[in-house]
Amino acid sequence: MTIGVLAVQGGFAAHAKHLASVGATAVEVRTPGYFKGLDGLILPGGESTTITMGIESAGLAGPIKDHHAAGKPILGTCAGMIVADRDHLGLIDITTKRNAFGRQLASFEDDIEIDRIADGPVRAVFIRAPWVESTGDGVEVLATVRDHPVAVTEGTVTAVSFHPELTDDDRIHGWFAGECSGAGER
Ligand code: GLN
Repeated sequence: MTIGVLAVQGGFAAHAKHLASVGATAVEVRTPGYFKGLDGLILPGGESTTITMGIESAGLAGPIKDHHAAGKPILGTCAGMIVADRDHLGLIDITTKRNAFGRQLASFEDDIEIDRIADGPVRAVFIRAPWVESTGDGVEVLATVRDHPVAVTEGTVTAVSFHPELTDDDRIHGWFAGECSGAGER
């Protein structure tokens, strides 16, 4: 199985190690030609304005939307959640609030229970993280922190406010790889 990691800007490299450890091949996606043969796509953290501009200048918005329309899963993490939202690529029916946890809580870690992730809480690393401000009817909230959604899913798109690639816990990547392995049948 091959999972692309959008490599425009930000924390794309750390995802590859986790994907390898759950048995997937990671491909750094930089141009439209990389989409052929992808089973899934990760939109990593970083700086959402820079990533959005990079997507535009590399002509990647269309291929990302085509990947989504083909029923192939997408996981957005931190800035990737913002890039996926209704105001950006429109992949998932949410709006997000950037840097939502405020200055004092710019970076923090929390053990959070996430629906669909078994075997106890996940250590979640938040770095100038967004939260989900509003959700459409089809969106399921998988986890909240301080009463704000930080993990959501709709159809084949899942978005988390934190950085699952920055801990040793592979469960989110493992779950996502499982979603991607069924994608060919959709
Ligand atoms: N604060 C960043 C943004 O608004 C996201 C931070 C991150 O991805 N760690 O784009």
